[in-house]
Amino acid sequence: MPDTTTVIVGAGHCGLAMSRCLAARSVDHVVLERGQVANSWRTQRWDSLRLLTPNWMTRLPGYAYRGADPDGYLSARQVTAMLVDYAGVSAAPVLTGTTVTSVRAAGGGYIVRTDQGSWRAPTVVLACGAATVPAVPALARLVPDGITSLTPAGYRNPGELREGGVLIVGASASGIQLADELHRSGRLVTIAVGEHVRMPRTYRGRDILWWLDACGVLDQRYDETGDLARARNVPSMQLVGSPGRTVDLNALTSAGVRLAGRLAGIAGGVAQFSGSLPGVCALADLKLGRLLNTIDAWAGSAGERFAPTTVPTVPLGLDLRSGQIAAIVWATGYRPDLSWLEVPVLDRRGRVVHDGGVTACPGLYLIGLPFLRRRKSSLIDGAAGDAAELTTHLAGHLDALAGHRARSAS
Ligand SMILES: Cc1cc2nc3c(=O)[nH]c(=O)nc-3n(C[C@H](O)[C@H](O)[C@H](O)COP(=O)(O)OP(=O)(O)OC[C@H]3O[C@@H](n4cnc5c(N)ncnc54)[C@H](O)[C@@H]3O)c2cc1C
Repeated sequence: MPDTTTVIVGAGHCGLAMSRCLAARSVDHVVLERGQVANSWRTQRWDSLRLLTPNWMTRLPGYAYRGADPDGYLSARQVTAMLVDYAGVSAAPVLTGTTVTSVRAAGGGYIVRTDQGSWRAPTVVLACGAATVPAVPALARLVPDGITSLTPAGYRNPGELREGGVLIVGASASGIQLADELHRSGRLVTIAVGEHVRMPRTYRGRDILWWLDACGVLDQRYDETGDLARARNVPSMQLVGSPGRTVDLNALTSAGVRLAGRLAGIAGGVAQFSGSLPGVCALADLKLGRLLNTIDAWAGSAGERFAPTTVPTVPLGLDLRSGQIAAIVWATGYRPDLSWLEVPVLDRRGRVVHDGGVTACPGLYLIGLPFLRRRKSSLIDGAAGDAAELTTHLAGHLDALAGHRARSAS
């Protein structure tokens, strides 16, 4: 069985950032990847997807965007190319086509089983993605036959859906982007809206992410945040990677998209929506106002304000058997899949318990989850800081192991 010092599971941007930081400290390691480098950008993104973060935010350890369009937004294909280049320039030791099937503790370290053999290592970094599996609510099972059910990870373009109306469940980044695209393709689109994060594309003449970066919101730390569990569950921002274009609920309804409340149930083929829509929209408007106040305080003067969300009278039910709806897109979020871990770090809901990516099992780390160490941890731009700090912790753990071994030998 081959030995190495660190096994990194996953060659997305987080795994590659960890690899770069470990290499800078001469920590011997291998990156095990079930597909190819940037697998999720190759296999789980729809055709038109562009990053909602501007190009200048595409920063990784030892890498910064140097192209001609710093304010543009990379396509999924361009993200893939960027990560393949990054892996090459970093000489990252990636083994592709290698699926990790279990990690278990052994002899003060870990045995990492894969479909291509096993590895032994004192340290393991799980960089296998927060968005591995779409999180589809159980009520999806109640969708009547004849309606196509799909998730953003499986959706590619409007041409793949058969003719007819579409119900999109969820109004965060994926939901509003797909509502916009499907409506533009000529379909009647209804979007079921729960808690969401309203965001203008530009504010005070600049991209909103410029402000969030400049005034430190994205750098807020996990150990300085009051309700961390809540902060880790905040939905993604309603943003689309298109210069100057805001796609919020007002923009969607003006274009002709129909709103509905949160999908609360399906009974007898009828989708039932919560009556909470005015409340959740008012809350999103309120939170946007607070965020803009934070930016204004940093900038030292007041900026513009946006019209409140207009909430039309919406139906509380939609008969899915009426022929109006041909497809339902479950834009209800994603979750990691770490069901193959054989170490006692999972809570009752199968989530890894960790403190800023450091688990209770010495030498086992995690990177890439929402608000892991900073508000921007789930963004490409968040990996550099998180990887640097986890590498420092991991190196400290290796030093402690070496010290322990030296003391035992003497
Ligand atoms: C639709 C969508 C849009 C996004 N848009 C943006 C954006 O605009 N800007 C931004 O900064 N971020 C964006 N993100 C967030 C984030 O950048 C991505 O989720 C990113 O892919 C996460 O990087 P990662 O390295 O943590 O995980 P991933 O890119 O998912 O990489 C994990 C890797 O681990 C591999 N893997 C998983 N399990 C195993 C296993 N058992 N064995 C071996 N390999 C395994 C996978 O194949 C994959 O290659 C977006 C996310 C989604 C889902």
